[in-house]
Amino acid sequence: MRIAMPDEVEWIIERIHAHGFEAFAVGGCVRDIILGREPEDWDITTSAEPAEIKRIFAKTIDTGLQHGTVTILKNHKGYEVTTYRIDGEYRDGRHPASVEFTRNLTEDLKRRDFTINAMAYSHETGIVDRFCGITDLYGRIIRCVGLAHDRFQEDALRILRALRFSAQLDFSIEEATWQAACELADSLSKVSKERVQTELTKLLLSAHPEKIMLVEKAGLAEFVTGGFAEVFARAKERAGEAPFCGLYGLPQEKSVRWAGFLRYMTPAESVKILKGLKLDNETIDHVRVMTGGFCSPLAPEKTEIRRMLSRMTPGQFEGILHLKAMEGDGSVHCIRKLWKEIVADGDCVRMKDLAVSGDDLLALGMKPGRELGEALGFLFEQVIEKPKLNQKELLLEKLGKRR
Ligand code: ATP
Ligand code: MG
Repeated sequence: MRIAMPDEVEWIIERIHAHGFEAFAVGGCVRDIILGREPEDWDITTSAEPAEIKRIFAKTIDTGLQHGTVTILKNHKGYEVTTYRIDGEYRDGRHPASVEFTRNLTEDLKRRDFTINAMAYSHETGIVDRFCGITDLYGRIIRCVGLAHDRFQEDALRILRALRFSAQLDFSIEEATWQAACELADSLSKVSKERVQTELTKLLLSAHPEKIMLVEKAGLAEFVTGGFAEVFARAKERAGEAPFCGLYGLPQEKSVRWAGFLRYMTPAESVKILKGLKLDNETIDHVRVMTGGFCSPLAPEKTEIRRMLSRMTPGQFEGILHLKAMEGDGSVHCIRKLWKEIVADGDCVRMKDLAVSGDDLLALGMKPGRELGEALGFLFEQVIEKPKLNQKELLLEKLGKRR
């Protein structure tokens, strides 16, 4: 089997060969090509040590010299080249205390997590598959390289990676690998929250987000972050045994998928969980608004829609409609139609689009502060109810009558 590689990867591998060392594309890219998927990145593994790689290539970046990784720049893109290595003893359940370089490819493949991620390829040698990765690819199985218990004990992040790949590829998890994941569930607490979050986000964004249930099945939920186990308990109580089956129909967008997962939690509970997982503030805010909007009733009625729109971004409103549609709310179609009309008519849904400004009111002698804020709030509410009122004279008249 000849695998088509990007020109830059071919060029890098050829140059390393020309200097008398071995080099292969390795890991996820080999797996993805065999599966007919587009690889996210191309990693290269080599028998050459970092100093040797730096002598071969003019433009390099020292990405992680102590782990043997040098980035080679070619056509404005970076390619990570890592020396074959043997990971030393893992002391903290996450990082090897030391790494040792080796000239033996098999040793390097042995340290990798799953059989499907432990294959290497070069045009000269073809596919190097020492751990039956191809068999597992065709059998659609996630299986640890070596003894699963040992491999998860070394690095507990691998447990979540197993679940994540199972969701991305729709593969099952091999029995011993699954058993070890369940037995070592508590070691997930040793993994940094950012890394846990990245894996869970990838899982939720995958083609099989419903496999988030595996986190609960394996007994991992309580070790993810405070309040996480409650998400499953409540979702099952509200929506039965398979509460996340509808998530795949949501847009593949981080905040919407997280909001779908957290939809039965209150906004405050969602924020606590996502902060615990170190999600970025923008995503947290979207989820807070979406979980809030999801649990508020919304009639297919223009005033209500405008009022809701006034409190959020169009993207957040769109997210809420997706969540409501997923939950079987039959009025979403009609709400969308009315929303289109609101946009087409240019109805005011933002304070800044109000025909009267704070400056106008100051010019009329109103004092800055609470009185002014209340007056603007009153006018905005009038316009939300009757968009045609959004004209300066009409609004000032309203204000006069109110006084
Ligand atoms: P993707 O890039 O699609 O997330 P990937 O398999 O390429 O998937 P990376 O995190 O990019 O994953 O890692 C590249 C390769 O490094 C993997 O294919 C695997 O061989 C190895 N690897 C990554 N993380 C680990 C780990 N925690 N333990 C052992 N090997 C790992
Ligand atoms: Mg990768």
